Amino acid sequence: MVKDRTSASLPLQPGDWNGGVALDVYRQAIEFVPVATSITDVRANILYANSAFERLTGYTESEIVGLNESVLSDHATPPDTYRKLWAAITSGREWKGRLVNRRKDGTRYLADLTVVPILDAQGNPEYFLGMHRDVTDVHELESKLKNQNTLLSSLVEAAPALIALLNASGKVIFSNPAFEDLQREMPRDVLAPHFLRALNESLGVDLRSLCENGTDFSAVEARIETLDGEIRWFACSATRVPEQDMSAAGYFSVNGRCGLLLVASDITLQRRRFEQARTNAVRAVLAEQQMLQGMREVISGAVFQLQGPLNVMNAAQQMALRKTGTDEQTSLPVAEMLEAGYAAVERLKSAMPRLAPEPVEPVNINELIHDVLDISIEDLLRAGVFVDWRPEKQLPNVPGRANALRSLIKHLLDNAILAIKDGGGLREIVITSSVTPSGDVRLDVRDTGPGLDEKLRLKIFEPFFTGWVKTRFRSGMGLALARRIIIEQGGSLEIANHMTGGCRVEVVFAAASLGHGQ
Ligand code: FAD
Repeated sequence: MVKDRTSASLPLQPGDWNGGVALDVYRQAIEFVPVATSITDVRANILYANSAFERLTGYTESEIVGLNESVLSDHATPPDTYRKLWAAITSGREWKGRLVNRRKDGTRYLADLTVVPILDAQGNPEYFLGMHRDVTDVHELESKLKNQNTLLSSLVEAAPALIALLNASGKVIFSNPAFEDLQREMPRDVLAPHFLRALNESLGVDLRSLCENGTDFSAVEARIETLDGEIRWFACSATRVPEQDMSAAGYFSVNGRCGLLLVASDITLQRRRFEQARTNAVRAVLAEQQMLQGMREVISGAVFQLQGPLNVMNAAQQMALRKTGTDEQTSLPVAEMLEAGYAAVERLKSAMPRLAPEPVEPVNINELIHDVLDISIEDLLRAGVFVDWRPEKQLPNVPGRANALRSLIKHLLDNAILAIKDGGGLREIVITSSVTPSGDVRLDVRDTGPGLDEKLRLKIFEPFFTGWVKTRFRSGMGLALARRIIIEQGGSLEIANHMTGGCRVEVVFAAASLGHGQ
């Protein structure tokens, strides 16, 4: 037989409220609510318990009615909680809180309890209505989440990497102490935009498209300049993080917006080591090239010196032969000398060291200038020359042989240093890179030397011409070679006097490929 639970012995009688109709509805509602509900007298002695109460505590209604609510106490709840509970409900106020309860079978659970006083006509508590839910699982989840949060935040706090969460507008909504530390070395709030710009340059995509359609990325290098001009390098990775709409309206809809979790590790030290190694390698290659070039110049000089008199002798002999007819007495030794002379020239030519072939590839003239300045630092310091380097920020690559172009730029810089040594006034070299209206790349090297004697302007590109006053160990082949290199590249090289004094060398590197192979 099914027990009619709605007719359980409640303290209220059907006639007490609206002829009993509303009370029946009220009783039935309480009986079937899924929350463990009990009604007690003012000392917490149980008068009624619903079926959810039975299910949760393990006590049947007949077992529990007449017992005190304290039968559920596990005695693990601090006494102060009970003091607060009783202080509230005896003054006619509702109380909510969590207690550790024990079921009939002795198992514990965490109860989320609400006690509501039911007042008499004078406003004094007459009964108490208790409602409680088992929130052990919720507590377990909350604790797990809290532990994970603590673990995650201690990891994030202690991480040496910079961590920042950016929203889709690029605003930092969370950052760790490492990020904050670097932030302090930058003008206010520019660190995130700096990173975004650097990443934009490396990846070629902006934050918005990265957030909307992009994919995660890792190991992208970003270069950041701090307030005191220090350059720092970071290896960055980013993960797209969906932005949760926490409003009620967002419960059923997905807003599709993403933020970016940015993790950046400082690789400045490794980068500096790498740069140093690279500079050393460039220096070694240039030194070898210069040595080979020097040998080629000496041999070319010797060939030139030998070939001149040989040609004169040859012409003279031809003239003598034409005038006098065959004269074996005089022409034989001359012919032998000429033959020996030309053979010597050929031997010298075959001894000319070959420069290693170099492929044509896209090169950035700013980077080449940077390399040359790096390896020339000691020469510049020794000569007491100040370099004002004004690079164009966005310089397109041009096709060319990197090492050949480096030695061209190095030669122009060496010339400028020599000119300043010859001059003796202000000791400054201004180097400017720019883009011409037709998209070529222009390099200007301006010195504060004595300038170029107008009479020499056409001669300076001649092989073996040298106009240096104080320097004797230059062969005069440099500009001739420099011009050859730039013509091969498809560009041009002009030298003129600058209106403020000194020389101005203008080199134009052609943007269009000449299709040179090796
Ligand atoms: P005490 O706190 O000293 O309680 C002993 C008993 O003395 C109490 O049960 C109560 O009958 C009475 N008492 C204590 N203070 C007062 C006071 N200021 N005025 C009147 N009588 C007082 N406790 C739980 O541990 N789990 C529950 O699920 C739970 N549900 C409750 C539901 C209701 C509707 C009410 C009114 C109380 C509930 N309590 C519950 C509180 C419970 O009555 C006890 O206060 C508590 O269990 C601590 O009991 P205790 O034996 O450790 O000692």
